[in-house]
Amino acid sequence: MNKVPTPKRQSTNTDTFDQHESSVASYGKSFPRVFNKASGSYIYDVDGGAYLDFLAGAGSLNYGHNHPFLANTLASYITDGGIVHSLDLHTKAKQKFLNALHEIILEPRGLDYVAQFTGPTGTNAVEAALKLARRLKGRTTVVSFTNGFHGVSLGALAATGNYYHRSAAQMPLTGVIPMPYDGFMRDDMDTLAFFEQMVTDHSSGLDHPAAVILETVQGEGGLNTASMQWLRRLREICDRHDMVMIVDDIQAGCGRTGTYFSFEPADIKPDIITLSKSLSGFGLPMAIALIRRELDEWQPGEHNGTFRGHNYAFVTAAAAIEHFWSDDTFSKEVVRKAGLLNEKLTEIVAAIPGHGLRVKGRGMMQGLDCVDGKTASAVSQAAYRRGLIIETSGPDGEVVKCLCPLTIADEDLEKGLRIVHDSAAEVLGAKS
Ligand SMILES: *Cc1c(COP(=O)(O)O)cnc(C)c1O
Repeated sequence: MNKVPTPKRQSTNTDTFDQHESSVASYGKSFPRVFNKASGSYIYDVDGGAYLDFLAGAGSLNYGHNHPFLANTLASYITDGGIVHSLDLHTKAKQKFLNALHEIILEPRGLDYVAQFTGPTGTNAVEAALKLARRLKGRTTVVSFTNGFHGVSLGALAATGNYYHRSAAQMPLTGVIPMPYDGFMRDDMDTLAFFEQMVTDHSSGLDHPAAVILETVQGEGGLNTASMQWLRRLREICDRHDMVMIVDDIQAGCGRTGTYFSFEPADIKPDIITLSKSLSGFGLPMAIALIRRELDEWQPGEHNGTFRGHNYAFVTAAAAIEHFWSDDTFSKEVVRKAGLLNEKLTEIVAAIPGHGLRVKGRGMMQGLDCVDGKTASAVSQAAYRRGLIIETSGPDGEVVKCLCPLTIADEDLEKGLRIVHDSAAEVLGAKS
């Protein structure tokens, strides 16, 4: 009797992508399924298989997939014939966003900034910030920090540490000098004392920087955190030496660490702030550079871009700010869940001793340092087999990084971390 071949499940048939998509795509290789629907903290493949999503668009889905309030707001805007594309014309949707940003986010925090709409991706906002900083100071050099990630277009890539990304450019990546981030030397070396000495000594070889650019928690660089004191001192150094301070809050911002901006606990005011990923709240592309009002020396059109007027993104961004940030309920919830996340990760470290596991990060941006990339990747793959999507970060991909939606239910957070626990135990041959 002939054996009837079992048809391949649709969700695992990735032929289309294998044949027709450039090999540059990467997440699809780690999680080879065809996905179709999503809701909250879950995504579903075309056969209905459910996956808990701890990748969440690499931090672009802080409010989860398809948040009903945002979805409904957008749906009625579309049904009402709301304008979609508008270059940088004034639109009602943009007006609503600017007012919400000003009234709910900036003003209550004492932040007097104007918003520059850049092209809709993070790297576009970083390019704008770097260009403005250099233009303001009439100097070329920008200081970045070790393990920083700021995007992969050439200007932003020059400020990005990762060798794999840098070497793909095959171009001199100029105008940026890296300095050691807080804790980079793994001892109590005062990395800012080193930096300031480099700036002060006119024979150090470091040209006077126009600006510094940094993340307060390094998302792609392995969840290294800068202490609040380090951030305050960096602010002082920037003031003393006339340098623009750019905080790239593309991943750590929009509530990821518990406050809207990640630098709030340090009580500093950066000169320029870049935001993107979760800014639209709905996964729509959108990016801005927030510029301290007195530094906004741009001339009209000096920096531009066709897609600076994605009104669908403005609609959901305004709705997200109004819905989640009008009072401190949401922020307090994020802080509480971050405590739970830390507790569970700490439990995993305690339960699997002898492998050098440790907890890294801050807020809802924490993870498990597995010492090497091979182990972390095996943990991520073991988690995937158990129905959890979670990625790695760090110079060797050694950190399993939890970026679940901030809106996640406690039981799903615990379920996901149970999977991380079981996966780490499986990979390291420990009892879970
Ligand atoms: C993701 C990211 C970027 C780049 O954003 P893209 O939209 O991928 O260009 C820049 N900075 C940080 C901190 C990021 O996490």
